[in-house]
Amino acid sequence: MKKLNTLIVILIFAELIFLAIFFFDFSPVKAVKMKWKTKDIVEYDRVSSIPVLLYHNIVEDNKPVKSPFALKKENLLNHFNIIKDQGIKVIPLSELAGGSAGSISDQKKSVVITFDDDYLSMYRILLPIVKEYKYPVTLFVYTDGISKPGKGGLDWKMLREMDKNGIDIQCHSISHRDLTVVKTNETYSSGKILYEELYVSKALMEKNLDKTISFFAFPYGRYNLELLELAKQAGYKKVFSTDYGPNIITRDNFCLRRHHIKNSYSDEFFISIIK
Ligand SMILES: [Zn+2]
Repeated sequence: MKKLNTLIVILIFAELIFLAIFFFDFSPVKAVKMKWKTKDIVEYDRVSSIPVLLYHNIVEDNKPVKSPFALKKENLLNHFNIIKDQGIKVIPLSELAGGSAGSISDQKKSVVITFDDDYLSMYRILLPIVKEYKYPVTLFVYTDGISKPGKGGLDWKMLREMDKNGIDIQCHSISHRDLTVVKTNETYSSGKILYEELYVSKALMEKNLDKTISFFAFPYGRYNLELLELAKQAGYKKVFSTDYGPNIITRDNFCLRRHHIKNSYSDEFFISIIK
């Protein structure tokens, strides 16, 4: 009986040792203390960046402004004039994304202008202004918001005309829903939501505009790592958020930030963004 007790005690100890080994991570990876070589100081002249401005709706001067992100026409014209007066060059988004935006010193004097969403004002107000100023701008549209001809909204015919006259049309999804809250296995009857929002939207726009769509702006600027990966798979060259801060030109950033412009900005603050 005493022998049996001793055996039980030994077994219990053996079990405890086994459990300790099982639950304790002895892997060699953990034992290696990683020493990342971080750059404390980035050479200042390499942190040169080109601001990407983001506008939304433009309203006629006699109409009320209903959102902090909607600008009166005179407000937009003022910004366009400030850009000109400050000697800043408006470059196409494709130039920035393609990395052909000139030398580092030139980049400080460049700006990219983008607009989001399917406002009719893009055709009625923005197009004549863009023609006059000869500023290359990019407009991100979502396909559900594109109306049938004669229905009073922005339609494909208008978009084709804009695209040929200085407003580069790019993709802003199908439905303008927040893509970060869509699960990858959630489906429409016709297929996966993210596949439609990222890939089918691109194909639809390419068919209707007869051009290659290379850029995608996330609805509400919201994204995650999975969405970045899916956007790469869908064939986009760059995607755009509404995160604040500059883009560092010397990095190969797939997801670029934009400065969301509010109608309350003073001239001084606007100049501080574009300079
Ligand atoms: Zn939008």
